[in-house]
Amino acid sequence: MPEDTKKVDMEKIVSLCKRRGFVFQSSEIYGGLASCWDYGPLGVELKRNIKNFWWKKVVQERDDMVGIDASIMMHPKVWEASGHVAGFSDPLVECKNCRMRFRSTDIDTTACPNCGGQLSEPRMFNLMFKTFMGPVEEEAAIVYLRPETAQAQFVNFENVQSTTRKKLPFGIAQIGKSFRNEITTGNFIFRTREFEQMEIEYFVKPGTDQQWFDYWVNERLNYYVSLGIKRDNLRLREHCKEELAHYARGCFDVDYNFPIGWSEIEGIANRGDYDLTQHSKFSGKTLDYFDEEKSERYVPYVIEPSSGVDRSLLAVLCDAYDEEPADKETRVVLHIKPEIAPIKVAVLPLSRNAKLLPKSKEVHDMLRPHFMTQYDDAQSIGRRYRRQDEIGTPFCVTVDFDSLDDNQVTIRERDSMQQERVPVAELLDRLKSKFSF
Ligand code: ATP
Repeated sequence: MPEDTKKVDMEKIVSLCKRRGFVFQSSEIYGGLASCWDYGPLGVELKRNIKNFWWKKVVQERDDMVGIDASIMMHPKVWEASGHVAGFSDPLVECKNCRMRFRSTDIDTTACPNCGGQLSEPRMFNLMFKTFMGPVEEEAAIVYLRPETAQAQFVNFENVQSTTRKKLPFGIAQIGKSFRNEITTGNFIFRTREFEQMEIEYFVKPGTDQQWFDYWVNERLNYYVSLGIKRDNLRLREHCKEELAHYARGCFDVDYNFPIGWSEIEGIANRGDYDLTQHSKFSGKTLDYFDEEKSERYVPYVIEPSSGVDRSLLAVLCDAYDEEPADKETRVVLHIKPEIAPIKVAVLPLSRNAKLLPKSKEVHDMLRPHFMTQYDDAQSIGRRYRRQDEIGTPFCVTVDFDSLDDNQVTIRERDSMQQERVPVAELLDRLKSKFSF
C-alpha cells in the first residue's frame, strides 16, 4: 500500500487519545455515558486550534463573511418552519423480545440481530432532543436542543444584513454544539449525540447559485488539504437524486478515508430559497434582499457548507498518526500541521540537574506568551522527545550544560528529528518563522 493511504486502526487512536489526554469517556468513573466523550487537556487545545483555523479561513481572511454565536435553544416554531419537527426522523424497528431498537435501514434481516426475536413494523422516531423551559413540564413549555446550528443564521438573516450592510453574495458563519438523538452511534467521536458543528450559510443571488455551489465544493475540499490532511485520503461524493432533500438542488460530501472506511466530514448543499421562504412564512416577517443595482427585491438562495468539529479532529488524528522505526524501536508520531498542534514548543532541560533550572525556566518564560508550551524534565531526553512526538509537538527546545556557557539551545524538529543550535536571543524569532501565523 502506498505510504499515503496506509490506514491506522481506530483502537490505536482511541488508546492514544486516552493515554495522552486527548479524549476521555464521559462520566467514566460512573461507567461512562453511551456515545458521550470529554476532551482532555490536549484534546481541548487541538479542538480549539481546528475551530480557530476554520474561523480564520472562512471569516477573518474574507470580506464576504461574518460570524454569529447564537443560543442553542430557539423558538419551537423555528423547527416547525425548518421541517425538523415533521421530517427529522429515522424509521425504527423494535425487537418484541429484548426491546432493542434498530434503524431499519441498518439491518437486512427480519429477525433481531441481538436475540433473534421478532421485529416490529418500522416507526418514525424524531431525532431532536426535547426539554422543558420554565418551571412547568407541559406541552406548551417544550423546547428543543438544536440539531444543527444553521437555523440561527437564517432567522438572523435580516439582523445581520441590516447591521453589517453586506451586499450579496455574503455568508454567515457559526461554530457551536448540536444535538441529535441518533439511534446508531459509535466509532468513537465519529457519531455522537452531542457534537460540534462549523456551518456557513452563504447567500447568493438566484441564478448564480450553481456557480457558487461549485466554488464552495472546491473551496471546502482545499480547506482540508490546508488543514494538513493528505489529498489522497479525501474525496468528494455527489449525492444522487434519491438522497437529496426535496428542496435541495445539489449536495456533495467531503469524505475522509477513516479507519471505518470513506465517511463524511462535511456536507455542502445548495438549498435554494427554502429556508428563508419557510421562516418568512412561519414568522410572518419578510426575509428578502433589496438589490440596489437592479432596484429589485428577491429571496436569496443559499449554499451551506456544514462541517463537524469532532469528525475533523478525528480525521486530523488518523491522518497524522504514524509508527516509524527509530533507534531500534518504533516511534509513534503525530505529523500534525504545526499551526494545529496542541503543544507548539516543549522546553526540555537535558536533565534535572539544578544548574540547568534557571536557564531552562528563563527560556520557557520567554516562549510561553507566544506559544502553547510544555515544560518537561522527567526521564531521559530520548523518552521525552518520544512523548512529544506522540502528541504531535513540532519543536522541542533543549537546554544543556553548554547552554550555560554559550547561551545557545538546540531546536529539535519532530518530523525530520534534525537538530539545530541557536542563540537564545534568536530563539523566539527562529521559532516564529517556522509557523505560518
Ligand atoms: P451522517 O449522514 O453521517 O449522519 P449528516 O449528513 O446527517 O451526517 P449533516 O446534517 O450534513 O450530517 O451535518 C453536517 C456535519 O455535522 C457532518 O458532516 C458531520 O461532520 C457533523 N455531524 C452530523 N451528525 C453528527 C453526529 N451525530 N456526530 C458527530 N458529528 C456529526
